[in-house]
Amino acid sequence: MSQRDPHLVIGGGVIGLCSAYFLAKAGHQVVLVDRDTSRRESCSDKNAGMVVPSHFIPLAAPGVVTQGLKWMLNRRSPFYLRPRLDPKLWAWCWQFLRHSNRQHVENSRELLRDLSFESRGLFEQLSADLGFSLVKRGLLMLCRSEEGLRDEAEVAAMANEIGVDAEICGPERIAELDPQVEMDVKGGIWFSQDCHLDSEQFLSALRRGIAEAGGEFIDGEVVDFRLDEGKVTQAITGKGEEINVSKVIVAGGAWSPELVRYFGISLPMQGGKGYSLTLSKPAEMPQLCSLLKEGRVAVTPMGKTLRVAGTMEICGNDLSIDPVRLEGIVDSFCRFFPAFQKTDFSGLDVWSGLRPCTPDGLPYVGPIDGFANVLVATGHSMLGLSLGPVTGKWMASLAGGESGDSRLDPMRFG
Ligand SMILES: Cc1cc2nc3c(=O)[nH]c(=O)nc-3n(C[C@H](O)[C@H](O)[C@H](O)COP(=O)(O)OP(=O)(O)OC[C@H]3O[C@@H](n4cnc5c(N)ncnc54)[C@H](O)[C@@H]3O)c2cc1C
Repeated sequence: MSQRDPHLVIGGGVIGLCSAYFLAKAGHQVVLVDRDTSRRESCSDKNAGMVVPSHFIPLAAPGVVTQGLKWMLNRRSPFYLRPRLDPKLWAWCWQFLRHSNRQHVENSRELLRDLSFESRGLFEQLSADLGFSLVKRGLLMLCRSEEGLRDEAEVAAMANEIGVDAEICGPERIAELDPQVEMDVKGGIWFSQDCHLDSEQFLSALRRGIAEAGGEFIDGEVVDFRLDEGKVTQAITGKGEEINVSKVIVAGGAWSPELVRYFGISLPMQGGKGYSLTLSKPAEMPQLCSLLKEGRVAVTPMGKTLRVAGTMEICGNDLSIDPVRLEGIVDSFCRFFPAFQKTDFSGLDVWSGLRPCTPDGLPYVGPIDGFANVLVATGHSMLGLSLGPVTGKWMASLAGGESGDSRLDPMRFG
């Protein structure tokens, strides 16, 4: 290992790409290795493309566990946890339960807000530098029930309290904000600072940016490391390639725990599976992205196409598709947008991805104990796209010797 050896980023999803981009821009020699040559495995390619300062409440929050248990009883619901005899799953659940409280929300909301706003600013800069479009019209949280609207009004009050703009809207105001679509809703919240983009267009732009900044790409799976006195000196791929490294950035998404296991570290993480379907000729084209409260479905216009995404299934790292749960997404969407028929979705390709979920809903960004040249950037759960740029920028700072934020410490669960 020498100073001239590259920084090796493992994982070519949004977090690995953003890390590689900011490292290369900071003048480091960068190599990014990813095994997913067909781009079927990464969670980043066909997600909902939302950049969401409105998501300042972590996944572990009050009411989530009770709601999750109710949903477990319904095959078409947006949440499922497959019970397994896996001690890691139960340890994760226990930590999730411990963090699902008001205090945790209060401790995390400013952090998530600040990360999101910094990331949003970086998206604006990246969009100008790399030439992808960022649509800054905001996001509608749409509600079909009075109860849903009441819950979201509470979130809106909290948002305004911490400086995230949120407007409570009746159906007329919603129709005024997005006049080209019919929506069957009681009302909703308009988070005007949220944005959306086409995730694949963004990832391609990042790949171009990395190459232009001198970064290199390797197709391959990292299967081993050579270690020397508390440092990683080489990563070994499945094809037997030996890559000299000066630093390693672990950005392997839901598979990151398998990578850090080589360093004797156990990273609590579960894959949270979600699906997306993309309509190439939608019956109507919304101008704003939206979240459908009662169905937990995300709807995003991407160019001339419309993406509909949803579900959170904690089922291990299994990417298979459950047709019943998929139907739940389509049913919900058609209820909110009555101009669409279920048959519009017949025969469409279904994409599935694994959100890397930590038990407290906050990412792991920082060094690990025992290995001076290893950094971790993963666990972004529902916010990986949103927080990609800020995470990448932090990786460049950490690689330059700056210290991280203890709230995101990858070692925080011991
Ligand atoms: C349906 C759905 C909708 C979503 N919508 C949004 C949204 O609107 N906004 C938002 O912010 N987030 C959204 N998310 C979440 C977001 O997509 C994820 O948080 C994010 O993609 C995670 O990125 P990542 O780079 O950490 O992981 P990934 O994208 O999964 O990338 C990890 C990569 O590492 C590679 N890898 C793993 N191990 C190895 C190894 N040993 N060697 C080589 N390569 C390896 C994998 O092949 C993979 O390509 C959504 C997720 C889903 C499922």
